[in-house]
Amino acid sequence: MKIKVIESVLKANDAVAQANRARLDAAGVLALNLMSAPGSGKTTLLEKTIPALVPQRCAVLVGDLQTTRDAERLDGIAAEVVQINTGTGCHLTATQVAAGLTSLDLSGIDYLFIENVGNMVCPAAFDLGEHLRVALLSTPEGSDKVAKYPTLFQPADAILLTKVDLSAILDFRSRKVYEDLSRVNSRAVLLELSAQTGLGMEPWVTWLRQQRCEHAGVAAARRAQPPGRGGGALETEELPRPAHAGPDLSQRGSL
Ligand code: MG
Ligand code: ZN
Repeated sequence: MKIKVIESVLKANDAVAQANRARLDAAGVLALNLMSAPGSGKTTLLEKTIPALVPQRCAVLVGDLQTTRDAERLDGIAAEVVQINTGTGCHLTATQVAAGLTSLDLSGIDYLFIENVGNMVCPAAFDLGEHLRVALLSTPEGSDKVAKYPTLFQPADAILLTKVDLSAILDFRSRKVYEDLSRVNSRAVLLELSAQTGLGMEPWVTWLRQQRCEHAGVAAARRAQPPGRGGGALETEELPRPAHAGPDLSQRGSL
């Protein structure tokens, strides 16, 4: 019985997630679900990423149990920010995101970043209606986390190794992370970066632009309607393919 209850919760969530995705598609918005432990640098990453994507416009839905602190940090950087307080909830649900979407003007947005509640376990089980999943792992968390929490990394489209500027003093073994990832997820793009120093940020921003171009093309073809906003202009942008990794720290002896 217990399993049936959990399944029905996830099914109901998935139905709302599909509706969210359809709504985002209709508005030409690319949505990304950022998932990681608390303190991996999701908000800092967004603080540095959003200005780099200009003139594209970004909105953020931020999930936290309490406070509006992350929304305050992003206010004035993103075109629109909505803080979702989950109370005791340790992950965002599609219904919460649907409520967040109603307070956004989707017609004026190119990217929607959903900053999930910091948690390495259950956010991965809940489809929010995003197009892409991004999992972050910061070097202070240790190089054993992919092996310990594979369900976070398995469905990710991009995996970001963050705070790599600290890797030398932390004795972080990125080679271990790559080995574990090769068993868990060999499909995702893997990028190493430091939002603080800017190291490795360019391949990440390039990947985002490229995903938006590809998504805009797919969405337009699916709708088979005349190109509106969020379509044509991007097709002409020349985008170099990002390297599989940023600065390759695995080559360094101590890593
Ligand atoms: Mg945050
Ligand atoms: Zn949870």
